[in-house]
Amino acid sequence: INRIAVITSGGDAPGMNAAVRAVVLTAENYGIEVVGFRHGYEGVLTNDYIKLGRESVEHILQYSGTIIKSARSERFKTDDGGREAAENLDAHQIDGFIVIGGDGSFRGADHLAKFWQGPIIGVPGTIDNDLYGTDNTIGYDTAVETAMDALDKIRDTAEAMDRVFIVEVMGRNAGYIGISSAMACGSERMILPELQKDKPLTVDALVKHIEGVHRVRGDSSYVMVLCENQWPGGAVRLAEQLEDRLNFPCRPCLLGHVQRGGRPTAMDRILATRLGVHAVELIRSGETGVMAGISRNELCTTPLQDTWMQRKQLSQELIDIQTKLFNPVKKERHKA
Ligand code: ATP
Repeated sequence: INRIAVITSGGDAPGMNAAVRAVVLTAENYGIEVVGFRHGYEGVLTNDYIKLGRESVEHILQYSGTIIKSARSERFKTDDGGREAAENLDAHQIDGFIVIGGDGSFRGADHLAKFWQGPIIGVPGTIDNDLYGTDNTIGYDTAVETAMDALDKIRDTAEAMDRVFIVEVMGRNAGYIGISSAMACGSERMILPELQKDKPLTVDALVKHIEGVHRVRGDSSYVMVLCENQWPGGAVRLAEQLEDRLNFPCRPCLLGHVQRGGRPTAMDRILATRLGVHAVELIRSGETGVMAGISRNELCTTPLQDTWMQRKQLSQELIDIQTKLFNPVKKERHKA
């Protein structure tokens, strides 16, 4: 192995830079050159690349975003796109390919493998934490920290004014950011894809819960965490619907893309560093078609296809804790 390529692809996640750095420094230790294609698969198609050495990755691990940029590429998804990408990798004499991204990016890696014979390793980089085969994905911990910070601030104002807030967080297919930020902030209610799927909450049920909380606690704030795409019209519409039925103000707050930025947490920097090193070691040992992951604090690998075909289950224990900790109806019954 003389030269490897690395891309960051799909939605950016805090810690991607730390992973790129770890790949470059590890490769350099083995005398392997690293080429970074810019803008994900698009850069492989357009030959937009930079050589990455120790000096290019110095002092980047504390920054979010990605120095080699990320993007989505429709053209790459076609057979022609896959073939062209493979030809370009060969033209650059690339002996190994590392893709840092989410499930879409790994499907892309699988697509590339149909046309390119070299080793391909995935590194889980997505704030959603929705990849099977690793306890955490790079960026998830930082996104939760950011959501928690915002939720704490919203609680301050909600409590001062006795308001209901509906805070929309990212995670349209997986409720990891939702449940973790809700738990970390003691939110009264959460609307997660995993729960909505089986037993969708209704406006009636939410009104009943909010009224129950007010009966038990008197004047108080009420903060609900809503995962994006889980309510028609999102937090704005839900706030309107609740306000129509309740006697106090309900306010929406959309956290949006702030969840992708900010200084990566120590957890994300360390995870990204371990996984970046692991990815290079896997290429050196002849592995291909797997994602580098960490499970129960041990390095592991998972076939790329399993990472999206198998569903990583949101812990029922966490769901139970959150639902048990605030159930005003039960409390009333207890008092009686
Ligand atoms: P995130 O979930 O954090 O946004 P992601 O990696 O899932 O990240 P996507 O936008 O789904 O992001 O995918 C990134 C890129 O991977 C796509 O723009 C496309 O180039 C490639 N890709 C995705 N799905 C496929 C597929 N089925 N076949 C080939 N390439 C794909």
